[in-house]
Parts: sequence; structure tokens; C-alpha cells
Amino acid sequence: MKIHEYQAKEILRQYGVPTPRGSACFSVDEAENAARNLGGAVWVVKAQIHAGGRGKGGGVKVARSLQEVCDHAGNILGMQLITHQTGAEGQKVRRLLIEEGAAIAKEYYVGMVIDRSKQRVVLMASSEGGMEIEEVAKHTPEKIHKVWINPASGLTDAEADTVARQIGIPDAALTDARACLQGLYRAFVEKDAMLAEINPLVLTADQRVVALDAKINFDSNALFRHPEVVALRDLDEEDPAEIEASKFDLSYISLDGDIGCLVNGAGLAMATMDIIKLYGGMPANFLDVGGGASKEKVTEAFKLMLKNPRLRAILVNIFGGIMKCDVIAEGVVAAAREVHLKAPLVVRLEGTNVDLGKRILAESGLPIISASNMADAAEKVVAAAKGA
Ligand code: ADP
Ligand code: MG
Repeated sequence: MKIHEYQAKEILRQYGVPTPRGSACFSVDEAENAARNLGGAVWVVKAQIHAGGRGKGGGVKVARSLQEVCDHAGNILGMQLITHQTGAEGQKVRRLLIEEGAAIAKEYYVGMVIDRSKQRVVLMASSEGGMEIEEVAKHTPEKIHKVWINPASGLTDAEADTVARQIGIPDAALTDARACLQGLYRAFVEKDAMLAEINPLVLTADQRVVALDAKINFDSNALFRHPEVVALRDLDEEDPAEIEASKFDLSYISLDGDIGCLVNGAGLAMATMDIIKLYGGMPANFLDVGGGASKEKVTEAFKLMLKNPRLRAILVNIFGGIMKCDVIAEGVVAAAREVHLKAPLVVRLEGTNVDLGKRILAESGLPIISASNMADAAEKVVAAAKGA
């Protein structure tokens, strides 16, 4: 689960990480008041969306008067902000963060993820802040310093200081840097994060170290023990189809293509998307109905896929193990009737009661294209999507 920058900063503040003062706003009036209350002479107006790269996309602006705060707030609120993380259509800006402007002397990068192979949280830090860390990792990997943190000791003072020095933080600011790194680690662990990032962490002109941006993604499997995190969820930032899917306990991810996929099991769903691509098609979604999908679940899954205006064809790929093929076939037939399915439907069934399942499909009278194996199914659905 993702949250906004201002929410991530609030969490980091609770863990002693220095951040600029600021507040979230939903209108130009609120933005002006927030700036007035902050005082000072320089403010930054920041679009709050669940994507990075806002600066480059025009979603982060410096203001040197209250009038400029209002102008920027007016321009940014409501804009369709396009960044390298939003996709081509961008994301509508509904919230702003108005915060005090920092006098930046140097920008750094720090981030944490779980390194599964080492079974530890890894701290990554770089002198190359403010830019895309993926680019740094690709072109100058030696500029990323890593510490695999021992869960028993946490991030020690010595480790924090060493890393801070490696990325070029001056000795005068080491105490601040320590607060940032150790606070980030404690927040990561206690809040069950999957990723926590400060990019940029900055050194100010007066030698303080401050988190100017903050991003925290949470492990959704641990949300049950963090109601305070769940409360931060912003449904406006999430895909409506994915929200709908979660109500029915379906794992659904929207994609850019035109072939809907309904599959049982995440591994088979991944393989199905791969083979569609291999045959020259593009999946419209990832959809795992789970091991024991009921007829109702299959119907909901169909409805979800059909909401996508790009959809040209559907592939149902089911391996009946715990679930029996006849049950799935009945579900597919009922769903296809209920939603008055128009898109070509290719079905590949295998496993328990497969013959019975195939007979149910054949006798349904629906224009279902049946496939004998995965390759056959992929070839047929790609052809159907292309209008063959
Ligand atoms: P994004 O990563 O989405 O582009 P950031 O919060 O990192 O957004 O902001 C982009 C850039 O804007 C930063 O690298 C920094 O140079 C500048 N910036 C952001 N917040 C402030 C601030 N409070 N004061 C001064 N500059 C800022
Ligand atoms: Mg940033």
C-alpha cells in the first residue's frame, strides 16, 4: 500500500527524522493560509500523488511570495500530472503539500528495501540524490553504498556514520544524518514497510540534514496490525478496477493491452501473460481468481474485465486441481450469459473433471473457442483480439 509524501513525512517525524515544516492542502485558499502560517520567504508547492518524478513533470514549484504560492497552487491543483511513474494519461492532483523552502547545499539518496536473499533490510545510500536511483544503479553502481542491517542490533551508530561519510555528508552534520538513517530504519521495521525512501535527503546551507522527499510503501499482508496506516489510504490514487477486485478477494492488476486474462493461481496467471506476449498479444490485466473460486467470483471477475474499454478478447486459463473443471465451466457459462459477453472468449481447461467441463462449455451454445493447451490458447486469443 502506498501513501502520500506528506503522510510519509509525518511518520518519519515521529521517528525523529528532520523534515521541513509543512501541511497538506486541498484548495488555493488553504494553500495561502498554510504558507502564511509557516512564515518565511520561500515556500515549495508540491503535488501529492502516489508517484515520483513530480519535480520534472511540473508538480513541484518554488514560490517567493504568497501570490506565487496561490498561482502555483491554482495551476497544480486539478492538473493531470504526468511523470515517468504515472503512465501516459497521468494522475489528477487533488492534494498539495505546502512546505518551507530549504536552502539546498547538496542532495543525497537514501532508501531501504528487504533483501530476501540476505534476509535483511538493506540500506542503500548515494551521493547522487534527487535523480532516479535506477539510473545511478545502471550507470554508476559504485556510487551506491549498501549496509545489510542486522535485525538484532538495528542500524548502529558506527554503520550510520560510515555510510553518511561514504556519500559525502560532512562531519558537522553526522548527528543529523544518524537521526535520519536510524529513524528511517525504525520506521521501516515498526510500520512493516516494503520500501522506504528519502530522495533527496539534503544538506542545507547551514549544515543540517533534512528529508525533502519521503516515500513509504507498506506490506499489505501486515496492514491488519496497522490501522493507523490503513487510515492513510487514498482511494483516489488507486485503480477503480483494482479496488473493486479487492472487495471480491480477486488479485487484479490493470495493464495496457487488450486481452483479458482470467486464470487460477498467480504462477499460471504470470505464465499466461508471458505466453500471450510470446504470440504477439498484450494482456489487458493480471487476474488470479484464486484456488477455490466460486461461480460468483468468476462472474465478478468477468464483469471487472469487461469494464475495460480496450478489451478485444478474453482468455480463460484454468488448471483444475482443488477446483474442478466442471465447476469452473459452469461459472464461465453463467458469467458469460449474465454479462451478455460479446468479446471472443477462448477457454483452456485442464485437470480434474476436464471432460465434463469441456462438455458443459460445448453444450452451452455460447460462441466459446476452446483450446487444447496453453500455446494453442494463446495463439487463438491473439488472433481473436486482432479480429481474425
Ligand atoms: P519528486 O521526487 O516527485 O520529483 P521531490 O519531493 O523529490 O519530488 O522534489 C523534487 C525536487 O524539488 C527535489 O529534488 C528538490 O530539489 C526540490 N524540493 C523539494 N522540496 C523542497 C523544499 N522543501 N525546499 C527546496 N527544494 C525542494
Ligand atoms: Mg523525490
